[in-house]
Amino acid sequence: MPELPEVETVRRVLTPHVLKKTIANVQAHNAQVIAYPSPELFIAGVTGQTIADFARRGKFLRLLFESGDSLTIHLRMTGCLIIEPQTAPVEKHTHVILSLSDGNELRYEDVRRLGKLWFAKSGEPDTSGANELGLEPFDGALTAAYMQGKCKNSKKPVKSMLLDQRIVAGIGNIYSDEILFAAGIRPDKPCSELSGANFKRLAETIPDRLRFFIDKNAVSFAEYAAGKGQEYRNTPFLHVYGKSGEPCPVCGAALRRIVLGGRSSVFCPHCQH
Ligand SMILES: [Zn+2]
Repeated sequence: MPELPEVETVRRVLTPHVLKKTIANVQAHNAQVIAYPSPELFIAGVTGQTIADFARRGKFLRLLFESGDSLTIHLRMTGCLIIEPQTAPVEKHTHVILSLSDGNELRYEDVRRLGKLWFAKSGEPDTSGANELGLEPFDGALTAAYMQGKCKNSKKPVKSMLLDQRIVAGIGNIYSDEILFAAGIRPDKPCSELSGANFKRLAETIPDRLRFFIDKNAVSFAEYAAGKGQEYRNTPFLHVYGKSGEPCPVCGAALRRIVLGGRSSVFCPHCQH
C-alpha cells in the first residue's frame, strides 16, 4: 500500500500537469470507487472545475478547485493516477477519467478497486475521513510531549501507535519498521514503557525518515509514466522492511520478523530495545 512518501511522489510528479487545468468532462466507468456523493452528482460537481492546487493530507490526495470545492482521493492498495493523452488506449482497470483542458486525461486506475474518491462542495462536511487525521509528520507540533500525551498510558505496541492515523498521519507498515529501526526501538515495546528519550527520538526520526524516503523516491514524470504510475513504489532504500533473516545493516545480526495486531514487523533484536 502506498504510504506518505509514495503519495507525496504522486503529488509532486503530477502537480505541474494538473495545475490551472479545467476539467472539461468526467467519465465514471466504475461507480464503485466513487464514495461520495452519487456518481451523477460526482460527475456534475467535478465537471467544469479548474484545479487551483494539488495537496496531500496523510495518505490522502486532494485536488483543490478554484471554486473552493474539492476532490479527495485515497489510493488504498492498488489505486494509481496517471496522465495520458486523450488518444492513448484506456487500460482495463481505469475507473474514472477526468478530461483536462490541455487534451490530456487524468485517469484513476485500480486493479482491486479498494481506493475511493470523494467530491465535496465548499463548506460541505468532508466525508473522506481526512479531517479526522492526526498531525502531519512535518508539523512542528509533532513533539515528544504530543506523542506522550496520546499514548503514554497505552499497553499497545509502539508500532500500533505509529500506524494510528489519528496520532500521526501517513505512516504504514513499511515506514513504521524503518522509523523504529532508525530510532532503536523494538516494534513490540508497549507505549507505556517508552522513556522520555524514546519519545524524543521518535519525534525526530519520524520526519527525518519520511523526508529521506521522499527524496530517495523522487522520479521524473517520464519515469513515472513509463512505470504506469506504479513502479515508483518499489524503493530500494529500505533497511529492514521485508528483510527478515537478512543481516542487520548496522550490526550484522539476523533481522527478525514478528506479527503485531495482524501486521508483520521486521526489526534487529540487537540494535532495537
Ligand atoms: Zn542490528
